[in-house]
Amino acid sequence: MKSLNVINYFLKSGVHKMLFENLSGPLRVSIRLSDSQNNIESQYIQDICNSMKLMRVNIITMQIYDPNAYPLIFEFIKLLDCKIHKILSVQNTNFTENLLDRLRESGLDTMALVLRITSLEDIQNKLQELKNSVKLCVDGGIKTSIVVPLNSGVLTELDSILAILKDINVEKLSFSPPEINTDGISSETVLDAYTLINAFNMGKPVIIQDPLASKITGQDYGPTFFPSCPAGRSMLHIETDGTVYPCTRLKVSCGNIKERALHDIWKDSEGLKQIRSLRNGETCSKCEHISNCLGGCKARLYKLNQDMKLPDPLCWHVHKGV
Ligand code: SF4
Repeated sequence: MKSLNVINYFLKSGVHKMLFENLSGPLRVSIRLSDSQNNIESQYIQDICNSMKLMRVNIITMQIYDPNAYPLIFEFIKLLDCKIHKILSVQNTNFTENLLDRLRESGLDTMALVLRITSLEDIQNKLQELKNSVKLCVDGGIKTSIVVPLNSGVLTELDSILAILKDINVEKLSFSPPEINTDGISSETVLDAYTLINAFNMGKPVIIQDPLASKITGQDYGPTFFPSCPAGRSMLHIETDGTVYPCTRLKVSCGNIKERALHDIWKDSEGLKQIRSLRNGETCSKCEHISNCLGGCKARLYKLNQDMKLPDPLCWHVHKGV
């Protein structure tokens, strides 16, 4: 009995969290290989892959916006350690069967199709385009998932979009959270949207990529042994110009892969030290949801130039008392 009390005390104290904090892996890295202006040049690809092996990266998400960058994707996948789960996130879904064959043969594990809705008039076309692309990928033998960025257009039509997505046969459906203060999205809107998504029987795994959602879904957000948001601890992002960030949204520069090896940046960059030393303030530390939510998304606070010890600006629990 006494030993159980000691273990409980140890777990509550958070000391175990500190002990685990700077260990490498499990680690998810995302890399934006191309956009309309930049490409990660071929000469850096081998170095990035070597570093990822040393860092024991286990999931890589490659983002591609420019179809001309596919040769870069093939080269990258070829050099990546075979143990890494390889996800390709694509916005432009105009691919051919030939391209999908090459992707499957190259060792791609999952295709993540991004449903980006920019105007209400566009919704039906975009959904039809998505259905066609899913069919092509699935027929081509590639595991397929759908990612839906939650913007004001999607939130306005969420019911009907969910009903259509329910009938599309994919491995997984993910929702990426709204950017802070864009389109006037409030914490109440977010609460309603996450509640609706959680209650909707989609018939497939559904992930809401927002630590705040764990208050509704009960799912853990990232490894629970971290004392706050996992950015820079179990995730990292590389931009097309080579800049390394703690995650896709937290724009604290941690170095550049053109100047230093990625594994050296991961080990001791000043930006990552700063992010890893973040602790939650009193409100979050005492909150009943802290073990799931971890204090919410720090990128939102950073974007608003607010103290990163504060609760997430979209947290309905603290701002609306819900
Ligand atoms: S107060 Fe902090 S820990 Fe609690 S739900 Fe809000 S952001 Fe999460």
